[in-house]
Amino acid sequence: MAYTRPLNDIRVGGEIDAVCTRCRMVTNHRIVAMVDGGVKRVICLTCDSQHNYHQPPGEKKVVAAKVMRVGKEMKKTSAPAGGARVFAHWMTNKDEMNAAGLTPTPYNFREQYKSGQPLEHPKFGLGFVQKVIPPNKMEVMFETEIKTLAMNMPD
Ligand SMILES: [Zn+2]
Repeated sequence: MAYTRPLNDIRVGGEIDAVCTRCRMVTNHRIVAMVDGGVKRVICLTCDSQHNYHQPPGEKKVVAAKVMRVGKEMKKTSAPAGGARVFAHWMTNKDEMNAAGLTPTPYNFREQYKSGQPLEHPKFGLGFVQKVIPPNKMEVMFETEIKTLAMNMPD
């Protein structure tokens, strides 16, 4: 009971690596809330901000499976290593989208898109338009990678 455990002690008050939405990187966090054995809310020990737990990309911990059951919002938290930077940006965009009450438009290569616009791709999922490349291309940031997609195409 009285012994102390090192990092990644999965309990309220324990510490865990998580993606910080403010630092936009994986930092050490203190767990403040758990649901069904999965981490729900954390406080970043670097910037002190409290937010929902975002699992670091590429981690394969036992806790991951539990976290994924917390809600459908968390189901796509796994990501290949190297995409951590994109992932953190993507998470921030997603939080901002939710805060603004926006919903993504289904991706259609005939549509015209604007920078910053959220869209839902049938294969890659939720993405945010990073840059429009006239006349008919755009860079879209998906969960772990940025892809160039067609837009504004004729029938
Ligand atoms: Zn932080």
